[in-house]
Amino acid sequence: MRGLYTDDFSTTPWWWEAARPVPGPPEPLPAELEVAIIGGGYTGLSAALTMGRMGTRALVLDAEAIGFGASSRNGGMVSGGLKIAGTGLAKRFGEAAADRLVREAAGSFGFLEELIARERIDCAYARTGRFVGAWTRRHLAGMERRAAWLADITGGAVRILPPDRVREELGSDRYFGGMVVEAAGGLHPARYVLGLAEAARQAGAILRGGVRAGRIAREGDGFRVFTSRGNVRAQAVLCATNGYSLHGPNEWLARRLIPVGSYIIATEVLPPATMQRLFPNRRMVSDSRRVLNYFRPCPEGKRVLWGGRASFAPTSPAAAAPVLHRMMTDVFPELGAARISHSWTGNVAFTFDFLPHIGVEDGVHYAAGCQGSGVAMQTWLGHQVALKILGRANARSAFDGLAFPTMRFYSGDPWFLPAVGEWYRLQDRIDRLAA
Ligand SMILES: Cc1cc2nc3c(=O)[nH]c(=O)nc-3n(C[C@H](O)[C@H](O)[C@H](O)COP(=O)(O)OP(=O)(O)OC[C@H]3O[C@@H](n4cnc5c(N)ncnc54)[C@H](O)[C@@H]3O)c2cc1C
Repeated sequence: MRGLYTDDFSTTPWWWEAARPVPGPPEPLPAELEVAIIGGGYTGLSAALTMGRMGTRALVLDAEAIGFGASSRNGGMVSGGLKIAGTGLAKRFGEAAADRLVREAAGSFGFLEELIARERIDCAYARTGRFVGAWTRRHLAGMERRAAWLADITGGAVRILPPDRVREELGSDRYFGGMVVEAAGGLHPARYVLGLAEAARQAGAILRGGVRAGRIAREGDGFRVFTSRGNVRAQAVLCATNGYSLHGPNEWLARRLIPVGSYIIATEVLPPATMQRLFPNRRMVSDSRRVLNYFRPCPEGKRVLWGGRASFAPTSPAAAAPVLHRMMTDVFPELGAARISHSWTGNVAFTFDFLPHIGVEDGVHYAAGCQGSGVAMQTWLGHQVALKILGRANARSAFDGLAFPTMRFYSGDPWFLPAVGEWYRLQDRIDRLAA
């Protein structure tokens, strides 16, 4: 029997083969400037780009390399709004505020498409649409109920597929039907984040990798940020550290974010006929489980990229690989012999109310918490927070200044995750047995 791994198996993201974030030479930091941004992912870079386009020079610091975090590691599946839709928002906020939240989130998709086109970012973006597989019959019924509303929110067609038509979209018999959401796309996340960095740099931003920010202290009417490469004075500070906020400069923010490891494998190059059978329309794919799978063909359509929560306790990409392979062959049995060439992980940030947030605490700005769905949304929130810092927002973002809950005694290290995660997984199994 052939082994599970290719000879050149790697635990770095497959995306890095084409676009690897590197810290760059250790250049000095400016002594003083208007805005310091901590975190060089979509959030920080999008904020820096908007500021640059409006004539304000921002400094973006990343403890590793610019783009090192989730932004160069994710699935590259782009949509707006899907994640927060249907989570009981109307009950919590009232109809009008819930509608604003959902429509703003959905709008992040169009914003991203425009940004990529305007800045000419070469990141293999394609409007592929997304297929969402129904894990149970009840989930399919829920999709049917929400389809018209979702079409209205996203501005694109939403089609329901009964179980006997799933193969029009996906080479699997594992789902009880599903839905196709046309307002969705796919890109190469590492090429996108490095392209965004280049656009921000050209707009005037100063980018520094390999610089870890420590304490943020008030000084006069601004701040002093202490870093591993000296300190910087800035009028305003933005924390854009998302799933990497633990032990960082903003304890308040870390206490409100739940870092969750997400894992992805890439298969070896597969025969074109196999790829065509598995992904006849090259859609992005996810499913309706609580602990969901997300998967897609790579941009060239030659490999399967398969993502999921391989473990809720910290584990290594090497240990996660066989678990993800099993999940993959559960949906695509014909991939039993497909070898894994890459397995990697990255941190997403969940929040206790399942919503992303932007705001200010003790004078320091933040934008975070996209629950694992931030390619469009964190780009948008970075833009929004930049407008806010510059005092240039025409209207307040619906995600700005919402109550941002934490939990008593929670310090940012989610000790409860393995138990909660396994509970969700068990619920998925029970739902399926009852389906
Ligand atoms: C495996 C995986 C799959 C995903 N799949 C998808 C998907 O298909 N679609 C989707 O929409 N979203 C997806 N996401 C989520 C998406 O990637 C994130 O929401 C988004 O990248 C967050 O961007 P960010 O800029 O806020 O954070 P990040 O990109 O994580 O950047 C935060 C940065 O802060 C830096 N940092 C931390 N502390 C400090 C410090 N003290 N000083 C300086 N720098 C610091 C880190 O080094 C890091 O680079 C996925 C995430 C992961 C991990």
